[in-house]
Amino acid sequence: MDALASQRRLGEAADRGAAHLAPDCGGLDFYALDRGLRALLPLYLRDQDFRLLEPHFERLGVIAGGRLDELARIADKHPPVLRPRDRYGRDEDWIDYHGAYREMETIAFGDFQFHAMSHRAGTLGFDRPLPSVAKYALQYLFVQAEFGLMCPISVTDTSIHLIRKFADQELRDYLLPKMLSSDVATMWKGTQFMTERAGGSDVGALETVARYEDGEWRLYGDKWFCSHADADVALLLARTEGAPAGTKGLALFALPRRLMDGRRNAYRIVRLKDKLGTRSMASGEILLQGAVAYLVGDINVGLKQMMEQVNLSRLSHGVRAAAMMRRCLNEAMASARNRIAFGRTIIEYPLLRRQLLKLALPVEQSLSMFLFTAHAMDLANAGDADAELRLRILTPLLKFRACRDNIPVATSAMEVRGGNGYIEEWINPRLIRDAHIGVLWEGTSNINALDIITRAVGKSRAHHALGTTLEQLLDAATAIPTGFRNRLHDRLRAALAFAERVAADAALEADARQAASALYHATSAVLMLWEASRPDCDARRALLARLLLEHRLSAQDPLAPASGNWEGEAAELIFAERKVALAEVTGMIEA
Ligand SMILES: Cc1cc2nc3c(=O)[nH]c(=O)nc-3n(C[C@H](O)[C@H](O)[C@H](O)COP(=O)(O)OP(=O)(O)OC[C@H]3O[C@@H](n4cnc5c(N)ncnc54)[C@H](O)[C@@H]3O)c2cc1C
Repeated sequence: MDALASQRRLGEAADRGAAHLAPDCGGLDFYALDRGLRALLPLYLRDQDFRLLEPHFERLGVIAGGRLDELARIADKHPPVLRPRDRYGRDEDWIDYHGAYREMETIAFGDFQFHAMSHRAGTLGFDRPLPSVAKYALQYLFVQAEFGLMCPISVTDTSIHLIRKFADQELRDYLLPKMLSSDVATMWKGTQFMTERAGGSDVGALETVARYEDGEWRLYGDKWFCSHADADVALLLARTEGAPAGTKGLALFALPRRLMDGRRNAYRIVRLKDKLGTRSMASGEILLQGAVAYLVGDINVGLKQMMEQVNLSRLSHGVRAAAMMRRCLNEAMASARNRIAFGRTIIEYPLLRRQLLKLALPVEQSLSMFLFTAHAMDLANAGDADAELRLRILTPLLKFRACRDNIPVATSAMEVRGGNGYIEEWINPRLIRDAHIGVLWEGTSNINALDIITRAVGKSRAHHALGTTLEQLLDAATAIPTGFRNRLHDRLRAALAFAERVAADAALEADARQAASALYHATSAVLMLWEASRPDCDARRALLARLLLEHRLSAQDPLAPASGNWEGEAAELIFAERKVALAEVTGMIEA
């Protein structure tokens, strides 16, 4: 009896101890929690579409905070395993996944059909393909729970796009019904293999060769980074025999995992990478040993065609960074509102509120940026040439800056949770590990910054289309005091002029990242101000726009206090758990 009573006492003490720790966001509804997303979606979706789609956002919000979150934790701790041979010693390589990963696949490919929603009617009860805004908003909710699987989901979606657009009729008829299926057991998923040891950024250096033998193309080479290594169809670049060196000689191929007669194609997954993050998903090395592949589109413009997939992936990466940052902020808020130190909840301390403000700013920027970019894609798909130019520059802008911001945001969220944030039982370590891949996939920060400045600004002149639209939004934001709008007008023009100057002068190449960041900050500041001015939207976004103006677009004296009184008041309003009216913030942005 004594032993039992003492065990019970110890148990009660442990329970009391647990109450000291702030909860995490597991079990919460990620859509209901997201005031920013709920406020902005109606600005970018038609009323009727929003009404039809909102139940799906709500449903995914609950799944993401609930079952998906549980599965993601398990899958992260049970990474995939490569089985190189079968028991007869045949090179029938395959990858074993944990049941948790398979269940996540069913949610993604079977229930929500992420891979098909842009390409055919009938997903989520829609009578046509979903608008891009809706697709990326759903990706954003999903990734707040699971990041790794979004790679296979997105790359299947983007592979379908390339095959629909560039493949000949026979290949389309062969591949698309399998790839667009929602039968998770039999569907064909896609991927994209470009990088080799000779080059990731420098794609023109790749060494894989395509030979035309006995009436079909066969590939020989070694692909060094292959995410979703066991996909059913991989799109890849190879140099056809006799083609010129560099990017000009690259053609685009579709590599099936199985041949038409069901046999395994002649390539091997040599090993899986032991990765810092994205552990639920398999990235491997692939040895091409005369594998049969189908030529996709024009043999002379392989890279140009492939860049469509790269750009779609870049947009999705920006969305994924926005999602992971949102999860970081939600986790930080859960800590800040519940953890007690020195007798007060830690959110009451000015220094911690300032830390939260710095954390929230890139989160909300990336939300505004991805919705605006996805909307430009919807307009471009409907034939709007200016929107196509905007999309051209916004895509790498979002990818470059949001992925970069994700890293300090993840670290800061860990710090707000304190020591538990460093412990693998909590989500923060995974958020930190996963954040880092964003600056590598689909081009590093330098490569994306060069794309923005050298090509989107220098060659396509896409900044003009962006600038014109942003000026129109500023002009339309009449509910905002004129003085503040003028200041932002001025900074926007300066950012555009800076980007143009760097693009025009090769000697300024080292300034490309600074110029790209300035464009991102100016764009997001204008968007947030415009959003705040919309009836029934979220007035707090005007305060975020002012923070950007003061801290990212204007010079600061490093020896003067950075936080004026207005910033303390702004933090109170930004973190208030109630709706904030525009009248409450206008005084603060007039100053
Ligand atoms: C886990 C993981 C999974 C991946 N999955 C895939 C996949 O499925 N398919 C695929 O094709 N690839 C994949 N990659 C490869 C990834 O896209 C490349 O690693 C990335 O593009 C960088 O290429 P690299 O590694 O060759 O680095 P490098 O190109 O050698 O770059 C090294 C450094 O040089 C810098 N640099 C290069 N050129 C310039 C320049 N002109 N100016 C300034 N700086 C420059 C880069 O910014 C970088 O900092 C994956 C990578 C990882 C880590």
